[in-house]
Amino acid sequence: MDPSARELHRLRLVSLGLALLCAGAVALAAAPAIAAADGASAAPKPGASPHGWVRQTPVPILVYHHVQRHLAGYYLLYVGTSQFASQLRYLRSHGYHPVTMQQVWDDWTGKQRLPRHPVVLTFDDGYPDQYFIAAPQLRTYRWPAVLNLVVDRGTKLSDSQVRHMVRWDWEIGSHTPHHPILTHCSPAALRRELVDSRRALEHKFGVPVDFVCYPGGISDRRVMRAARAAGYLAATSIHYGAATPRGRNAFPRIAVYWGESLATFGRRMRQAVARAR
Ligand SMILES: [Zn+2]
Repeated sequence: MDPSARELHRLRLVSLGLALLCAGAVALAAAPAIAAADGASAAPKPGASPHGWVRQTPVPILVYHHVQRHLAGYYLLYVGTSQFASQLRYLRSHGYHPVTMQQVWDDWTGKQRLPRHPVVLTFDDGYPDQYFIAAPQLRTYRWPAVLNLVVDRGTKLSDSQVRHMVRWDWEIGSHTPHHPILTHCSPAALRRELVDSRRALEHKFGVPVDFVCYPGGISDRRVMRAARAAGYLAATSIHYGAATPRGRNAFPRIAVYWGESLATFGRRMRQAVARAR
């Protein structure tokens, strides 16, 4: 078992109590099934319109939930305030450039070139500490991020705060209205979760919402087909890896966890990119 696999195995153990909502551990446990389904999705032929891949740059997509001073839950859902600051300094000193999902897509489809060492920072669910702690730190670097927002959120991130984040170059991704495990939804409910959230977010915040993050990171082929039918360009999961165009139905991401060393943080990004090449 390589070091990364050992870490993930350890995380599964410490996260066994985590139930379904925001279930990083559940999603990690489900990773092989998701990966198999993801691998079954065929990429269009290069040059095919409108989504012919001009480039296939692998991009690490980081997953954050809470950024706060004290660990108040599970390791996979929390990163410390100073830990997060250290990670941003690490990204800058190692030449990483945070970008949005749309920028990644535009690179792959030839509309725009990504900077060297691109990375996407995604924040799931919509928690106040993402506004009060993560966003101000990112602003000091003028870096964008992605907010995967639950529409009917009990998470207390207000519409006004979301609008501020949009002004600060945060891209909004759909995380459904109710955060259900989509593989358990009826066809009608699945359609509502995927279509309604996109419409509601676009209407409320006046921005395109072209990417969806599966609640709990969990999907299957039926869910992937429904996401495509709802008009999303791509979707994100939570199994480990770097994103490439062929995985657009369920991009892997890299969960960042409480107390992770900077060496591990950097190594897991580099390993994910190397494996995706
Ligand atoms: Zn979530």
